[in-house]
Amino acid sequence: MQPKTQEMHDRLYAMLREEQIYRYAASVLNFDQETICPPAAREKQGEIGAALGSKAFIVTKNPAFTEAVEYLYEHRDELDSFDAAMVAARHKQYLADKNITPEKEHAYALAFNKAFVSWLTAKEKADYSLFAPDLAAVRDIQIERTALREDKCDNVFDTLIGDYERGLTQAVLDPIFDRMKERLIPLLARILASKKQIRTDFMTRTVTDEQQRQIADYLLDVIGFDKSRGAITLTEHPFTHDMSRNDVRVTTHFYPQMFDSSMFSVVHEGGHALFEQFCPEENDAHFLHEKTMGMHESVSRFYENRIGRSKEFIHLIFPKCREVFPQVLSDVTEEELYEALNVVRPTLKRTQADEFTYTFHIIIRYEIEKMILDGTADIADLPRIWNDKYEEYLGIRPGNDAEGILQDIHWTFGFGYFPTYAIGNLYNAMYLNTMKQHLDVPALVREGKLPVIRDWMAEHVFRMADRQTPEEWIKAITGRALTPDDYLDYLEEKYTALYEL
Ligand SMILES: [Zn+2]
Repeated sequence: MQPKTQEMHDRLYAMLREEQIYRYAASVLNFDQETICPPAAREKQGEIGAALGSKAFIVTKNPAFTEAVEYLYEHRDELDSFDAAMVAARHKQYLADKNITPEKEHAYALAFNKAFVSWLTAKEKADYSLFAPDLAAVRDIQIERTALREDKCDNVFDTLIGDYERGLTQAVLDPIFDRMKERLIPLLARILASKKQIRTDFMTRTVTDEQQRQIADYLLDVIGFDKSRGAITLTEHPFTHDMSRNDVRVTTHFYPQMFDSSMFSVVHEGGHALFEQFCPEENDAHFLHEKTMGMHESVSRFYENRIGRSKEFIHLIFPKCREVFPQVLSDVTEEELYEALNVVRPTLKRTQADEFTYTFHIIIRYEIEKMILDGTADIADLPRIWNDKYEEYLGIRPGNDAEGILQDIHWTFGFGYFPTYAIGNLYNAMYLNTMKQHLDVPALVREGKLPVIRDWMAEHVFRMADRQTPEEWIKAITGRALTPDDYLDYLEEKYTALYEL
């Protein structure tokens, strides 16, 4: 490293350490607020959290910070791969925000907040028309803000998708989603026409919180979660919160008549947690945290579905589940539990979708976002478009806007997020096929040797995630470019067997 580069590097690190102190403190407060903070203290906590967040923001708005980022970006060939990736990400952020004045930023924040408030009311009243004007405002902001960005792509939607999944575009997604529809729509029709009877009566039998807590703890141990560097607690909506690789927290929610809900939340969030706990130690030391949403969902869904809903996994956990929930499983076989956990039933709600129908929910949102941004759909007309698509792809039609277009919060802050939910499944189907060339995955799962799988993931899937684009990353792991075929083959094989098609 040249002396000037070293000087800029040291300056940047000093400022990043300062930023980290504020961010870390804000993050702990935020977690507290979501979990055990008493209701009466939430507002104050929110204020303090926001104040800490703006302290962190001020550090990175300092011209000395910007100068260091720009210099190091120019000289990134002198940096190690961790610093080069971190500086590139900071530089991109700088280009994205450069022309947005604090006044504009403030106006946008107010508009998003207004959209959030009107969405809540609209959802409660199941009346989309109350939300429509604010959704139009969100669209206009997205278009205006993107035009000001110096890191923008050729069109607005690609820029927004890229914020969540570096480099992903409609040109890649369109043929993938088309192929998925081509194969999945007829397959769904065959599944729904199948005579196969799947028993599900026991799925709503009552379980206690204590029983669910025991299973949650057990499942984290099974997948190889490191409890000395992680914790679990309860929240309304499960999520994973990471402050560093040594402090990764997962949350779950207990429903007395849905024992599988918390179990699979724990395995899903546990997957997110493993990704953080077992990524390279150097990431933290280099302030590097650039895994994409799609990469993250690939790992959480790998654990939740590829592993968690497999026959081998059910075989592994069945004895423990029966011991902890005897009132649920004493007259149920391992096979019956496997089938019940994989039943296909089109639903109106994305968050209640089974593994098979989930992708349709994402495709519908993607297609509508595209129409919103390219102007081919009128905002007022969206509920009809939404309902028509549900009917066309899933054969069901929402009875009102609350169970239709108003169900997700995402559009109160913008577009481009949803594809990451679908793309993760494509990644994990691809790398599972690669993993199977090296490991006897079914045998390892049956025998409870999941840490072996975790260690393979750490070496091949986790190690470079923060330093590569998703395109480079999947190619490096599997030797192939992104394709939906592995995932589609997996679904076809699994459900053909399950429904005896
Ligand atoms: Zn997730």
